[in-house]
Amino acid sequence: MSDPDLAIVSVESTIVDVPLIRPHKFATTTSEVQPILFVAVTTAGGVTGYGEGVVPGGPWWGGESVETMKQIVDRYIGPYIIGRGVDEISGVMLDIERIVANARFAKAAVDVAMHDAWGRSLGIPVASLLGGAFRTGVDVRWALGAAPLEEIVEEVTHKMEQRLNFSFKLKMGALDPVVDTERVVKIVEAFDGKVGFSIDVNARWDRFTALRHVPQLVDGGVELIEQPTPADQLDVLAEINRRVSAPVMADESVQTPHDAYEVAKLAAADVIALKTTKCGGLQRSKEVVAVAKAAGLRCHGATSIEGPIGTAASIHFACSEPGINYGTELFGPQLFAVELLKKPLEYSEGRCTCPRVRASASSWTWMS
Ligand code: MN
Repeated sequence: MSDPDLAIVSVESTIVDVPLIRPHKFATTTSEVQPILFVAVTTAGGVTGYGEGVVPGGPWWGGESVETMKQIVDRYIGPYIIGRGVDEISGVMLDIERIVANARFAKAAVDVAMHDAWGRSLGIPVASLLGGAFRTGVDVRWALGAAPLEEIVEEVTHKMEQRLNFSFKLKMGALDPVVDTERVVKIVEAFDGKVGFSIDVNARWDRFTALRHVPQLVDGGVELIEQPTPADQLDVLAEINRRVSAPVMADESVQTPHDAYEVAKLAAADVIALKTTKCGGLQRSKEVVAVAKAAGLRCHGATSIEGPIGTAASIHFACSEPGINYGTELFGPQLFAVELLKKPLEYSEGRCTCPRVRASASSWTWMS
């Protein structure tokens, strides 16, 4: 029986649209704001932990949105976990499967809020709950929306000069593939091999298109190919992985430990984009990383463009998990036009430092 002070007495959620510093252009949509569902779990001891339900710019990525997550959390998960201890995360997450299938982004918000409340109750960082931090921060890659050459060159140059990021990801899939490929090769050439670029097609190319353009991108100097083809077509991803020398990263294709197992079995990718959001929280993310490790795959600490709370959770995860061994793109708060924390996350020299204590209610500025 858990400490009575750790019992959950309320689960509340709020949707906030956070403005971005510039429109972020994905393959099929452009975001001007990032909607976030903030989930607050409060214990009988009076401690509140926070989590974020976040998808990248809307339901186009995986079917969930802040609106669907709010319904799932308010109507199903919240009432179901009242009375349970925030230190019962394994059991609670298992039991939630009885009432809500899939909906992993919503579950992640609850999982992170429980970790936060538990850590706060004990006065220790979430990384300690996860086994302890073995590094003090993570390298952070910056993602550029599908924008024209001149804009990209300007933004990359600015980031390099500020020493904020030293490697970059280019979003593809919004333009005609021939034009898009030429655009990316020109960007890579413009920096003459001095800057590392990866690309992300967000599963938008079919096999035919990918087999023509992915090799051109690799020949052009792109160092990592992220999810060129549809999520469920692992044989196609495996074929591309065999064809090109650059590593292929699976994102949309891996949301569960079993997905990771299938990718490993088919050698469909060399790297898995590990998002604590799409995996359903920190608990499940551990399982995905374990499968990757066993198969000799690397994991990249990826983002759904979480705010500072979700990002801090992923940084605590990455700092306590050696299996996150292919860098991160945990830049979410850097894309926001407003600072949500009184003590912001620290980004410098191409990395983000693991905060000693997670963002708390008292350091909260946005909702006050
Ligand atoms: Mn991706």
